[in-house]
Amino acid sequence: MSWRTKADLVWLDTLPGVERDHALARHTSFNIGGPAAWFCELGRVDEVERVVEEAARRGVPYLILGAGTNLLIADSGFDGLVLRVVNREHQVDGSRVRAGAGLKMMRLARLAADAGLVGFEFAIGVPGSVGGAVYQDAGCWGRELREVLVEVEGYVPGEGRATWPAESLGLGYRTSAFREGPLHGALITAATIELRPGDGEAAKREMARLTAERNRTQPIKTKNCGSVFKNPPADSAGRLVEAAGLKGAWEGRAQISDLHANFIVNHGGAGADDVRRLIERAIAAVREQFEVELEPEVELVGFAASGGQAGEGLGPAAAGGSPPTR
Ligand SMILES: Cc1cc2nc3c(=O)[nH]c(=O)nc-3n(C[C@H](O)[C@H](O)[C@H](O)COP(=O)(O)OP(=O)(O)OC[C@H]3O[C@@H](n4cnc5c(N)ncnc54)[C@H](O)[C@@H]3O)c2cc1C
Repeated sequence: MSWRTKADLVWLDTLPGVERDHALARHTSFNIGGPAAWFCELGRVDEVERVVEEAARRGVPYLILGAGTNLLIADSGFDGLVLRVVNREHQVDGSRVRAGAGLKMMRLARLAADAGLVGFEFAIGVPGSVGGAVYQDAGCWGRELREVLVEVEGYVPGEGRATWPAESLGLGYRTSAFREGPLHGALITAATIELRPGDGEAAKREMARLTAERNRTQPIKTKNCGSVFKNPPADSAGRLVEAAGLKGAWEGRAQISDLHANFIVNHGGAGADDVRRLIERAIAAVREQFEVELEPEVELVGFAASGGQAGEGLGPAAAGGSPPTR
């Protein structure tokens, strides 16, 4: 659908707090990404809902941005509207915690421990937001969000508000109905988790232990996006990339980490194309040597189509294939 009518441009230019050509690199943990043609940061849920509804109705491509910790955004940026969701409220009700989509998972893990609730320590390893974590069933240390998730609130353009029981959301290892199913393009506004009453201080000690262990084995303090590839069944993507001889490989200022081969590090000044080339090299080498098809966990946004479908060969959410988000 063509969306650059004069009325569309006037609507975009008059959104609350909108900015034109806003650099996205500062909003991604990779510190990579060109400009958003239009950028808005919205805290109020009804405001975000209204903007998503209208963008979808007009056919304006939009990208919902959480903490930007699982995105590789093209150097050319995103030719549409980027909406950063920042509702960070939370409520504790017995053993349940309801959190706004913009709250960071790490913060939620600490809040739960403060409330004497246990079973969410694993989330200390996920630097993304609650919305981004629901979107792909984030997890760490063998645990996943879906194990504690009770329900999710959101907004579907053209349909309105909804509350979904967790089991209806197609949640699985780094996937959901939002990432790859019928809810693609829907907005997540809040999530409720159910934990167990327990020793909050012990939970905090466990989180400190997990963090120290991660710092020792992964390049957590660098500019990166966490795991680049999903682990294939019964194997490890890092092991495969390393065995294919690419641990430590460089493209421009980007490097496959020499500490953990499922991480790509921006050493400062790397472009999205550098990272993409490393991703493509790793996929090709692992395919050739082990006949295993690596699938990116990181989402590629705004890349030009390579041949046929946008982002071909780089995974389902790559490069803006699926309407209406990108
Ligand atoms: C150092 C490091 C370590 C990491 N470790 C882990 C780990 O152990 N386990 C793990 O699972 N991940 C890990 N990650 C990846 C990342 O933190 C998770 O994927 C996280 O869930 C992404 O959340 P986000 O808010 O950053 O999402 P973004 O990167 O901002 O967005 C990712 C996708 O989610 C969508 N999205 C975000 N918010 C919403 C919303 N409110 N409504 C609808 N869609 C939304 C976006 O549109 C986009 O498609 C790590 C990343 C880093 C940098």
